[in-house]
Amino acid sequence: MTTSEQFQQDTERFRFDALAAFERSTTAEELEAARIQFLGDRSGQMRSLQQALGALPKEDKPAAGRAFNEVKTLVTEAHARRGRDLARSSADRAGAADLTMPARHVWRGAKHPVTLVIEEIVEIFRELGFTIALGPQVETEWYNFGSLNFPPDHPALDAHDTLYLKDDVLLRTHTSPVQMRTLQRFPPPIRILAPGDVFRRDFFDASHAPMFSQIEGLCVDEGISFVDLKAMLTNFARRLLGSARTRFRPSYFTLTEPSAEMDVECQLCKGSGCPACKGTGWSEILGSGMVHPSVLEAAGVDAERYTGWAFGMGPGRIAMQRYDIPDIRILYDSDVRFLEQSAR
Ligand SMILES: [Zn+2]
Repeated sequence: MTTSEQFQQDTERFRFDALAAFERSTTAEELEAARIQFLGDRSGQMRSLQQALGALPKEDKPAAGRAFNEVKTLVTEAHARRGRDLARSSADRAGAADLTMPARHVWRGAKHPVTLVIEEIVEIFRELGFTIALGPQVETEWYNFGSLNFPPDHPALDAHDTLYLKDDVLLRTHTSPVQMRTLQRFPPPIRILAPGDVFRRDFFDASHAPMFSQIEGLCVDEGISFVDLKAMLTNFARRLLGSARTRFRPSYFTLTEPSAEMDVECQLCKGSGCPACKGTGWSEILGSGMVHPSVLEAAGVDAERYTGWAFGMGPGRIAMQRYDIPDIRILYDSDVRFLEQSAR
């Protein structure tokens, strides 16, 4: 008959041997062999211990039973834990446990089409000596209108066209205030590009947005003439759009005189006329002109000595043509499925 003392020794040895065997197992097969040896229903060592427990004298049973149960729980849990560890490390080794599982989507950030166009424009003008200038989006009426030669009764000053914050403080309607701020701060020669967001009191429809991107350029120096304007902008259009033909049309802007709009041959119909260019064969890409002397004077620049030219364009419009986007709202929807298509 097994004594209580002998039983305790056997239990302790069982615990020690079982834990060591599980720890030594490095594959699921080895662990299963160890399980059968120690925890197997038919001939496992735990089963023998259980039989020995039943054969103990009655008065020894309660204490021995508690000890046995503790060891049983401990060894069973050790086996389960080792099983989980082995499963995890074999999955790591294989790279993926289940090759039929759908792959996880890898999200990569991408630049917005408008940002791509702005960067391209900046890159072209950088080679011509232009640098970037930025300004505030909240402006005073003077910087946004008055200094730029807008007459006091100009419709753009109306609260129906401009988003006023209070009195004469408003959200800028164009990036032109940056021209004024630059002229005030730095003496000529000046060659800057001013990209940024501008705000209009427009409905959000297929071709209008209350907020959109604009980019303007300004060049002021001695002896600058319309020839410089035409040469630089023609060169720019060829770089941006390929070898398309260009033309200048007389126009009117308050801050330039004379003013001209620049058209490029329609990229879709190559000049033969299509719905996109309303049958004209041309599409407008920018407005430009010689800086009005009163704008230079408002900034404190000697208009007798210095002349300059400026242009402004909407990179969103270029992006819509380039990526064949029919609705301006798509540009501002932040729909990742759309952004992925133009991502690079
Ligand atoms: Zn066309």
